[in-house]
Amino acid sequence: MCTPRRRRRSVHLVHEFETRAIHAGQEPDPQTGAVVPPIYATSTYAQDGVGGLRGGYEYSRSANPTRTALEECLASLEDGSRGLAFASGMAAEDTLLRTVLNPGDHIIIPDDAYGGTYRLISRVVERWGVSWSAVAVSDVDAVRAALRPETKVVWIETPTNPLLNIADIAVLAGIAHDAGALLVVDNTFATPYLQRPLRLGADVVVHSTTKYCGGHSDVVGGALVAASAELGDELAYHQNAIGAVAGPFDAWLVLRGLKTLAVRMDRHCDNAERIVQVLQGHPRVREVLYPGLVSHPGHDVAGRQMRRFGGMISFRVADGEDAAVEVCNRARVFTLGESLGGVESLIEHPGRMTHASAAGSPLEVPGDLVRLSVGIENVDDLLTDLDQALK
Ligand SMILES: *Cc1c(COP(=O)(O)O)cnc(C)c1O
Repeated sequence: MCTPRRRRRSVHLVHEFETRAIHAGQEPDPQTGAVVPPIYATSTYAQDGVGGLRGGYEYSRSANPTRTALEECLASLEDGSRGLAFASGMAAEDTLLRTVLNPGDHIIIPDDAYGGTYRLISRVVERWGVSWSAVAVSDVDAVRAALRPETKVVWIETPTNPLLNIADIAVLAGIAHDAGALLVVDNTFATPYLQRPLRLGADVVVHSTTKYCGGHSDVVGGALVAASAELGDELAYHQNAIGAVAGPFDAWLVLRGLKTLAVRMDRHCDNAERIVQVLQGHPRVREVLYPGLVSHPGHDVAGRQMRRFGGMISFRVADGEDAAVEVCNRARVFTLGESLGGVESLIEHPGRMTHASAAGSPLEVPGDLVRLSVGIENVDDLLTDLDQALK
């Protein structure tokens, strides 16, 4: 398989996160000086004599320069050795699971995993002879107790969706490795700006780049970043063999999104912190779930492993499920919709929307729960909107 020529990595080695987000993998175009990597809308590449590849490119499923730029940037931001970009977060997850699991293996997943992850593992991967256990991954002892000799992967999200539970990455990495398993962290909610799982001992980071990495709700994409070069090469082999790659335009959109990730995340966090304060004192709110709250059971762990606490908030409405649905329906600046992580604020009712399929399963969520993806609009407009929606 073709391996494109690695670009200069000096940016990766020397500079801080914000600088790498803008420059890693993105040297000005050698021919024209274009400061933004072009969208290489090409399926194939002329060869200088048989096998004479220019820069390692032979066919765009195997590699495409726009995708290479994104993959190098992602690897740099996550402090990994190799990044890979996919057509969606689920495509990335599928490729990862088929790379590291065999029939007879066992995987531990969060008991409040992202619904698509739960569906992939319980409905698709299970049919290929893989067993799984859904565990509260914020409970270290519960994870330890769920390990079996055939456990090959411990898969965590932190914070989780939509309950915003926190798992201790460093401790779980140790437990997984002692058992001969890999630790996979879905870092979609935190992003590499707020949390770097590979530094804490995780083996692979998963992203839905559809969310904060892209950041503008205009692209669906996914990514894997491996800690070791060896696992990175195996994942790259399967990325090409399975073929669920990001197209060049999608890769370009995510790369553009990453340039502003740090400033967007800081504003998401600023706005979320203000909204949490106001919701906490609101008579129609029963409970606010946000890892930044001292009362949150994962607050200390989150404080150790995250730079800040993120832009996602869940809260329980005092008067029950119908009242929670009404709050969602009345919001105006907050758009009623699924997904998260874009510049615009979104509101949803997990029980009837994103997590409807979890009803009756271990992943069922409370009916009075409302989830906010706090955007980067003016926070006073957001507060006024929430206040009228809660009246
Ligand atoms: C959205 C999401 C996914 C799936 O990603 P897609 O890009 O929708 O395929 C996986 N994990 C988390 C935490 C997500 O929010």
